[in-house]
This record gives sequence, structure tokens and C-alpha cells, in this order.
Amino acid sequence: VRRIVAADLAAHPQGRWLDEHTAARLLSAYGVRVAGSVAVGDPETAAEATALTGLPAVLKATGPRLVHKSDVGGVRLGLRTPEQVRQAYREMAARLGPAMRGAIVQAMAAEGIEMIIGGVAHETLGPLIMVGLGGVTTELLADRAFRVPPIDRAEAGRMLGELRCAPLLHGYRGRPAADVRALEDQIVRVGRLMDDQPGIAELDLNPVIVTSDGTVAVDARVRLA
Ligand code: ADP
Ligand code: MG
Repeated sequence: VRRIVAADLAAHPQGRWLDEHTAARLLSAYGVRVAGSVAVGDPETAAEATALTGLPAVLKATGPRLVHKSDVGGVRLGLRTPEQVRQAYREMAARLGPAMRGAIVQAMAAEGIEMIIGGVAHETLGPLIMVGLGGVTTELLADRAFRVPPIDRAEAGRMLGELRCAPLLHGYRGRPAADVRALEDQIVRVGRLMDDQPGIAELDLNPVIVTSDGTVAVDARVRLA
């Protein structure tokens, strides 16, 4: 895995964010679960991509300068027909202009708790893993726990226990309990990846949607050192 990933990363410019597919390939090599997505370049192929993703679908603009996609109207959720996807692409392209190089189409994930798992290569500490409450309010609420890997399952559990949002994972107010074991497993795997790949400067899975049976990262970004 190390050798395959190293070759893959060597082909990409240093200091830059990897494209969606390279990032997904890297994460998958370590068993990190990432939502499948189809890269498209125009409204018609976007509509056709729903044959692969299924419906309802999500459309997200891509481009090197599009970091917080939802801030600029670059994310459309719950599109129910190919025609809605086609129309959403046209509207997005008109709004974003040349900043939008293309888009990805994804299946809508099941509803769950939105967490964030992150990794950074710290100058002196080496890799550092973060987990917290995710979604678009993650910076605002800053509910996070940090560790230096290796992180085992029990340690991942302790990280989650430090979060103020921890009760949300255990079935808050009649909601189904989240699959905490699956989330712990994903934290362990991100720790292993960051430990194993010193060429990665920063990794950001936000959100990782946690349901009662598993997790999926629907937005995954990886930056090379
Ligand atoms: P960005 O962080 O760049 O704004 P995201 O891809 O994280 O864009 O999408 C923003 C929000 O949209 C997510 O926090 C999540 O609530 C929702 N979302 C994104 N992709 C999906 C998906 N495939 N299924 C369900 N909800 C999604
Ligand atoms: Mg995101």
C-alpha cells in the first residue's frame, strides 16, 4: 500500500490539495470510508451520472479555489431527478463562473451525525489527529479533541468522550444511537495513514456522517507537504 500510494502522490504537485479522486484512492487504501463520486464537466454528464450514483443526488462544484463550497452556493443537496441535477449544474456554473472547473455527483447519504476527522503534520510533534463535531458549524463550535498517533480503538473512544457533543452519538433525545465503534475505527485508520505518510501536510474529512450502521466521509480533502 505504501509503495502504491507513494507513486500516486509523487505524480502530484507538492503543497497542493489533491483532486477528489486521488484523495479518495489514498483514503480507501487505509480503509477510510469515502462516498463514491463521479467527476463531471457539463450539465448533461452531470445528469447522466445519476445512473451511477442513484437518486436523490448531490452536486458539488470543484475547482482549485473552491475550498468552502457551500459558502459560495457550490453544494446542492437532495436533487431528485436527472433534470434537477442538470438545472443545478447550469445555475452553479452561472453563479461561480470560471472558478468552477467541473463538479462531482454523489449519492445523498443517509441522515446521521456530522463529525470531523482531521490530521496535520505538526512541525515538532509530527502527525496530529483531531476529531470533533463536524459540518458547516465546525469552526464556530470548535468542539474538538487531539492526539498524537498511534491511536488504538480505546484511545479513539477516549477522544470521543472528551467532546461536548458526545451525548449526540449515544442517541440524544430519542434519536437512534450512532455506530460509535465504526467511528472509532475510522479515527484509528486516519491515525495510521498520517503516521505512515509523512508527505501529507493536512487531511480534512468534514463531514464524516455517522449513522446507526457505519460512517461515510462525504467531503475529503488532502494536502501534500
Ligand atoms: P463544503 O465543506 O466545501 O462546504 P461539503 O461537501 O462538506 O462542502 O458539503 C456541505 C454540507 O452538505 C455537509 O456538511 C453536509 O451537511 C451536506 N452534504 C454534503 N454531501 C452530502 C451527501 N453526499 N449526503 C448528504 N449530505 C451531504
Ligand atoms: Mg465539508
